[in-house]
Amino acid sequence: MKDSSIELIYKDTQIKVLQDDITKQDTEAIVNAANSSLMGGGGVDGAIHRAGGPQILEECKEIRKTKGKCPTGEAVITSGGNLRAKYVIHTVGPIWHGGDNNEPQLLKNAYKNSLILAYNNNINSISFPSISTGAYRYPIEKASDIALTAVKEILDKHSFKEIRFILFSKNDFDIYKRKINHILK
Ligand code: ADP
Repeated sequence: MKDSSIELIYKDTQIKVLQDDITKQDTEAIVNAANSSLMGGGGVDGAIHRAGGPQILEECKEIRKTKGKCPTGEAVITSGGNLRAKYVIHTVGPIWHGGDNNEPQLLKNAYKNSLILAYNNNINSISFPSISTGAYRYPIEKASDIALTAVKEILDKHSFKEIRFILFSKNDFDIYKRKINHILK
């Protein structure tokens, strides 16, 4: 196993933590840390739209027309355009305002609703970025606890083939590496 990857099994689900680029993942779905406009943005959102091509934005525009903005903590699904992943699940994490504005619950909802949407679409493998910890400034130590706990809570009810946590930086990867065996045990 490479330094930049960890694998374990929780219940019946294969879990991987990788330091990598989410746009390169071959899971059936990847999750986008979108904003509620669904009209694209910077960071991982920009990278996914660039790599996936215009089809994804077209579908986001259709969703906007029929359902309006995506509230924080909710998730919607489009195809993956030119990505290896067949689907993109767009979820909106909270902007960090100090932690007393329901940020933990909203971040947990973003992970859980993404997995519930995957489950309802018969998607068996899914990759997550570190939602809210870039432009939205959620502290990675706190956010990683929530990400891992949210996934655990869903996996206690349903299993998937594989769930990946894709961290862009070595620092974020090391934090997940330190925590994963404590939370998903
Ligand atoms: P948010 O607005 O939810 O904070 P960002 O995209 O600004 O979202 O950042 C979320 C995380 O995604 C950050 O840790 C950032 O480093 C990471 N990131 C950016 N590009 C990629 C990518 N191509 N693959 C995986 N993670 C990425």
